[in-house]
Amino acid sequence: MKRLVGPLTATVAVVATLGAQAPEGIYGFGAASVAAQRQLERRFLALPSADRARDYHRHLTDEPHVAGSGRNRQLAEWMRDRWKEYGFDSVEIVEHQVLLPYPTEMKLTMGSWEARFTEDAVPGDPDTRTPLVHYNAYSRSGEVEAPVVYAASGNPENYDWLESQGIDVRGKIVLVRYSVPYSYRGFKALTAEKRGAAAMLIYSDPAEDGAKKGPVYPDGPWGNESHIQSGGIPYDFMVPGDPLTPGWASVTGAKRIAAEEAISLPKIVSAPLSARDARVLLQAMGGPDAPQSWQGGLGITYKVGPGTTPVKLRVMSDDTVRPIHTVIGTIRGSERPDEWVILGNHRDSWQYGGVDPSSGSASMMDLARSLGALARGGVRPKRSIVIASWDAEEFTLTSSTEWGEQFEGELKERAVAYVNVDSSTSGPNFTAAAVPSLNRFIEEAAAVVTDPRTGVSLVEAKRQSAGRQQGSLPNSEGVDLVNNRLGSGSDYTVFLNFLGVSVIDMSFDGPYGVYHSQYDNHQWVSRIGDPGFRYHEAMTKLWGVMALRLANAESLPLDYRPYATRIGEFATIVQKRWTDRTDRTGDADPSFARLHEAVTGLRAAADRAFDAQSAAIASRSAEGLTAVNRKLMQAERALLDPAGIPGRPWYRHQIYAPKYTYAPELLPGVAEAVATGDGAKVSEQIDRLIAALRRAATALGS
Ligand SMILES: [Zn+2]
Repeated sequence: MKRLVGPLTATVAVVATLGAQAPEGIYGFGAASVAAQRQLERRFLALPSADRARDYHRHLTDEPHVAGSGRNRQLAEWMRDRWKEYGFDSVEIVEHQVLLPYPTEMKLTMGSWEARFTEDAVPGDPDTRTPLVHYNAYSRSGEVEAPVVYAASGNPENYDWLESQGIDVRGKIVLVRYSVPYSYRGFKALTAEKRGAAAMLIYSDPAEDGAKKGPVYPDGPWGNESHIQSGGIPYDFMVPGDPLTPGWASVTGAKRIAAEEAISLPKIVSAPLSARDARVLLQAMGGPDAPQSWQGGLGITYKVGPGTTPVKLRVMSDDTVRPIHTVIGTIRGSERPDEWVILGNHRDSWQYGGVDPSSGSASMMDLARSLGALARGGVRPKRSIVIASWDAEEFTLTSSTEWGEQFEGELKERAVAYVNVDSSTSGPNFTAAAVPSLNRFIEEAAAVVTDPRTGVSLVEAKRQSAGRQQGSLPNSEGVDLVNNRLGSGSDYTVFLNFLGVSVIDMSFDGPYGVYHSQYDNHQWVSRIGDPGFRYHEAMTKLWGVMALRLANAESLPLDYRPYATRIGEFATIVQKRWTDRTDRTGDADPSFARLHEAVTGLRAAADRAFDAQSAAIASRSAEGLTAVNRKLMQAERALLDPAGIPGRPWYRHQIYAPKYTYAPELLPGVAEAVATGDGAKVSEQIDRLIAALRRAATALGS
């Protein structure tokens, strides 16, 4: 999954000013150990290979490998066998049994016309010769015959407008489009369901990812008129993972709830559609012209409907529980084997999975080979490095969620950080999202990896592409390198929101109009997304440098000072939203001042922790380092509230949660209370947030 474009990924700046370390230092390393680490990194950086990444990619994308398929199982076994060969100390396949529906029937007709749920063959691309059926996972099974209404992006305001025009969507089939900025298709399904629509069709408009953007595949990166985006529509913003085991692991013998009780399962019939077929429906539409902002790239005047001829949609799924397979490989740490640096990528794809996810899987395979080579050569990380190949991420972040739920106890005790790469490469633009405690760590790691196109470091390349003045950066406030606004949409979710582990999510992005399409395959990647596979190699290098630093640092490179600063900024944003409301109710006058005081308290604790860290590094005291590392690990856990946020107990983190669109909800408990306009609720949530900030301050230490 993982696709957030437009304003949602607008980077926000914060990088802490440098502390006690010399400029040539590495955060978390003492002066005496920097040279050895640099030498290790030089040795490591010589290992990743673009040609190998291409070979891995070719193998991974040879056949479609949707979750639950025989091919995806084979790839899991292939990974396990390779990782063992490469020198991992242990590799295991963990199985979970989860609800994984496949379509058995997809039919959309209007009179004698019938839509196609497959894409056209493209000359010169053998992977397009055998058409594969597209669908929306977790659509309800059923048949609907009704007129069609066009509802633009399918957001609540679109339905409000239709209502204002007297157009009733109840019992109708709504036609909505994938939209930029991206909003998660499950949100469209929930909105359509709430408004009483009987079914939903989601199509790809050429204005969003097709010919209106530029040349279409195979001539360019965009999708042709037949391209279709598959994808799940579950309500995983309520709870991700197997819908039948919400909050606990789908292991043998686990309790399972009935599908009717599953809050993450939609109750609407849904299917994805190509632009070509959407045009047929739009041309048959009656009613008024759609507003200007609802017009798209099909070269016709879009009307909102209802359509003049009823349309029949039939979608049937097998609603089968299937086995999925997480591959877990470990290189045992030489000094602190019970502290785990976890790296992960999902393996399952909708079809061939060129960019999503096999670019990330190819980078990870070369990373496993390279790290394994070091271990075989006698160079062990001090902490254990754990690599995970997740399954069924495309369905509902499934295997990472189940694994995180199954091993909650160990992970809370042992996980140092989680570094996620979903799609590693659809172009050359580096993007990273993370909790703010990792900003400086990311920037330092990105500074030692070369951008293949420009030959400067990734940090410098990012600065140049942002048109920033040289010299003002890095390591001063204002580097737009790390996005600290985390929503959801990939496998870091369970680590951050359920387990309270510090997370990073990163990729190289570019123009990409074939997301979840059959055209997202080896040819697209090797001809358009990353010719030469040099960005695949760059990702392997960056990921590996991060792993080796997290594993070897004397003190964990977690700095909570920018975290406190960020939380203060988030609080100011949410407070303004509250004071701007003219319809506030409730007796209580929410005290944002107390919230800001708690943030100040956290900042003071973060300052003390940083000083303690610097002192422990300087003194090289094993006891001091152990103590400070414990604090730095546990401070993120302390930001969890065991009760979760209101209505969403699985989402425990008090700073981050996804909105229903996957966009970030900052200070989710307070923000959602503010949205109700009820002062009493806001006060209650501020109290919960303050308690979390105090727990984190306490964790950081006395
Ligand atoms: Zn993905």
